Amino acid sequence: MSTENTGFNTKLIHGGKFKDKLGSVNVPIYQSSTFEFESAEEGAKCFLGESGGYIYTRLGNPTINALENSIAELEGGFGGIGTSSGMAAVNIVYMALLSKGDHIISSQAIYGPSRGLIEDQYSRFGVESTYINTSDINNIKRAVKPNTKLLYVETPANPTLEITDLKACAEIAKENNILLVVDNTFSSPYLQRPIELGADIVLHSMTKFINGHADIIGGIVVTKTESLYKKLRSMMTVLGCNLDPHQSYMVLRGLKTLAIRIERSQQNAMILAEYLEKHPKIEWVKYPGLKSHHQYKLAKEQMSGPGAIISFSVKGGLDAGKTLMNNVKLAILAVSLGGVETLIEHPASMTHSKVSSQDKLKGGITDGLVRLSVGIEDSNDLIKDLDQALQKV
Ligand SMILES: *Cc1c(COP(=O)(O)O)cnc(C)c1O
Repeated sequence: MSTENTGFNTKLIHGGKFKDKLGSVNVPIYQSSTFEFESAEEGAKCFLGESGGYIYTRLGNPTINALENSIAELEGGFGGIGTSSGMAAVNIVYMALLSKGDHIISSQAIYGPSRGLIEDQYSRFGVESTYINTSDINNIKRAVKPNTKLLYVETPANPTLEITDLKACAEIAKENNILLVVDNTFSSPYLQRPIELGADIVLHSMTKFINGHADIIGGIVVTKTESLYKKLRSMMTVLGCNLDPHQSYMVLRGLKTLAIRIERSQQNAMILAEYLEKHPKIEWVKYPGLKSHHQYKLAKEQMSGPGAIISFSVKGGLDAGKTLMNNVKLAILAVSLGGVETLIEHPASMTHSKVSSQDKLKGGITDGLVRLSVGIEDSNDLIKDLDQALQKV
């Protein structure tokens, strides 16, 4: 049946309009690089785009398309373009929409490689950039230049969990003829749907919440309009950073439980955030679900829940943080996030190590900041684990 008018949970299970000719309940893995044409005429029609027939997996594949359609539907966009990784998704957006002399505005505390890509690579081709704290909307207004083409934000920010007001961003973007791109990896469409708030493009590292099982790397871009969809899809096919059918199958499987995984993870996250906030050895806790978060209200307005990522600082800075990370037994010391298992990491020396110390400070990434991606374990076990590790600090 059509899932056009159903709720989000029903869309998760039945969305994407995939219908298998043999009646397979699950989307099969079409592990084929190429597809047979019925005739020369039919092949020509496929290339002209006059037939929906498949040609070659880099251009399109039924398993990949099933996933792309599902996520586009969940995000409320026109279409989705699967990519080999989250960074490939970032790349096709930059490559398709930034030319020599163009300017991009983005957040200081953005995913490290998304910034490095602009400053180290696209700068070589004459792309200009301004990195600011986008959680203050006035900073964005001040950064707009005549050649600004993209406003690229991540909210909640990684790892500072600052919130950027997406509706306000969309207004600024519209007024100035700028495209608004949102990296929605931290929230997933279950908690936040930027296109509904005015964004033109949403992208994800599917490696994180969407897949949720720490077993694949993948990305996706969803566009609001057909014209942007066509532009980005053709960029993906020439860059050659397509998803793989098997990878897509894994993500389709993970996607089905997105809502119940996030519900459980954020329930745990709330319990842990409250525990950490009361702990005498903790300097501060940042979590959009805590009333102490200075943007608690905004988070509540634009997200349907605070998510499963907490950042906090142990009193005693880096050394204290390291002691904690070396002594946890249940939480796994690893980068990445959004999986069923709880992960702990140190952004300043790990995910954000390439960011200069000055920019780290400006972006709020202090040496003592610890990032926790909360999984779906029993919360009392997670608390016991943090408790015994904090005793050693
Ligand atoms: C992990 C991540 C990326 C990059 O995704 P990969 O799948 O690792 O290439 C981009 N943005 C955010 C917010 C991420 O967490």
